[in-house]
Amino acid sequence: MGVVRQLYQLQEIDFELESAEQALVQIEGRLGENQAVVTAQEEFVMEQRRLEELQRQQHAAEGEVDKLAAKLASVEEEMYSGRIGNPKELANLQHEADGLKSRRGQAEDRTLEVMERVAAVEARVSALGSELGRMEEEWNDEQLRLEAEGERYKELKAGLEQQRRQLISDIDEEAVAIYEDIRRRKNRAVASVEQGICRGCGISLSTTQLQQAKGDRLVQCSSCGRILFFA
Ligand SMILES: [Zn+2]
Repeated sequence: MGVVRQLYQLQEIDFELESAEQALVQIEGRLGENQAVVTAQEEFVMEQRRLEELQRQQHAAEGEVDKLAAKLASVEEEMYSGRIGNPKELANLQHEADGLKSRRGQAEDRTLEVMERVAAVEARVSALGSELGRMEEEWNDEQLRLEAEGERYKELKAGLEQQRRQLISDIDEEAVAIYEDIRRRKNRAVASVEQGICRGCGISLSTTQLQQAKGDRLVQCSSCGRILFFA
């Protein structure tokens, strides 16, 4: 095989290596990345705390209702016990009972209001919990998929590196050095020639250059310096 064809093959391997390396960088960037899950977890915990606070409020409001009811029962028990004959004292007890009834009514309203809020937040916590579970599962699957994909790219890369070493050991050292030098400066070191034009820079090549290049000798484009290759 001529040296230019070998360099062209080397370039193909280098491009494949480059894209494998880029894919690996992307995969590594996405491994361990779980910002969306962390945000969902934080929101879930926050809503759980809100629920606990509301449940405490509900408990306190219910306790208040019970306390007022007990107090009212004891006032009414005294009122109807027959032990009190004094009309003024009875009127006072009646007044106290009315006050307690009104406060109990207010406390009951508060309890209902808090219970409604508890129910709403409970529903939200439950929805957030299922959403979080789904996200965590998805994230785990994604991580496993990325790890497997990363492994595949690592194997591909190792195979390409092996191919590259083998190919390079067969190519003239000086030609490899020229290739590497152009590659560093221009990324693509070997340019194909089509219809007398260097595909690297688009210039029309002279007849002399074309004749030299056709012989599979290492000829560089007079304009861009790339190694000319007839496919
Ligand atoms: Zn050129």
